[in-house]
Amino acid sequence: MDPSRRSVLSVPLVLAAGAATAAPAVAADPPQQSPVDLRRTDVSRRRALPPLEVHYDRDAVVSLAYISQDAGEPGGCATRGVEETQQAGVQPGAGHVVVDGTRYDLLQTHFHTPSEHTVDGRHTPLEQHLVHASEDGRLLVVAVLLVEGEQGEADRLLAVLPDECADPVPVEHVDLRAMMPRRIAAVRYAGSLTTAPYTEGVQWFVVGSQTVSAAGIASFRALFPDGDAREVQPLSGRRILADPAATAWLRRL
Ligand SMILES: [Zn+2]
Repeated sequence: MDPSRRSVLSVPLVLAAGAATAAPAVAADPPQQSPVDLRRTDVSRRRALPPLEVHYDRDAVVSLAYISQDAGEPGGCATRGVEETQQAGVQPGAGHVVVDGTRYDLLQTHFHTPSEHTVDGRHTPLEQHLVHASEDGRLLVVAVLLVEGEQGEADRLLAVLPDECADPVPVEHVDLRAMMPRRIAAVRYAGSLTTAPYTEGVQWFVVGSQTVSAAGIASFRALFPDGDAREVQPLSGRRILADPAATAWLRRL
């Protein structure tokens, strides 16, 4: 076991948004890392899975910031690292989800290019992550695969991306709920954070796709020309469960 992996077990997880939570669960053997390829042959449809209940503010204020991993280094403000992103912090209480009776509060949302999760090996241009934590520190991430098309709510953020080391940009009147499909049909599995410290015990809900403008995709890509996505990780026997209606969007992508 290498030292960086061991540290995952003991260090508190500090999310870039500034919210600290206790590190959940020890790393599994074999590893349960994210992202993964959502191969349709690996997805088991299940009726009556506990639904993902979404309670998001439709008129929120978010603070959009460039998350730098190297700002303190010479030239750091211009280097686009794979673990950097644009992240919107939300105010406490602006959104939460409930699964199986447990509430997970929305902490922040951020983007990756190309998508981190793939469907039968195919990427979409962008993927949005909405990161939640329960009161006892369990993490739940909702992933939305972004495809090029009509302007979407994510464009509100993609239109005003701050440069690395620039001040955060406040964005008002954000409809957080509109960042997810109206009807939630989720694909779920147990995984990890996709950036260091790659903490496991994260519940993943991939809820389908939303459209975003070509201009929005282009402005994010301009900041991350080499991408900021982690490569897909082995499933290692994990099960991917899906609401029956998820088959429709999986087939479309
Ligand atoms: Zn992410």
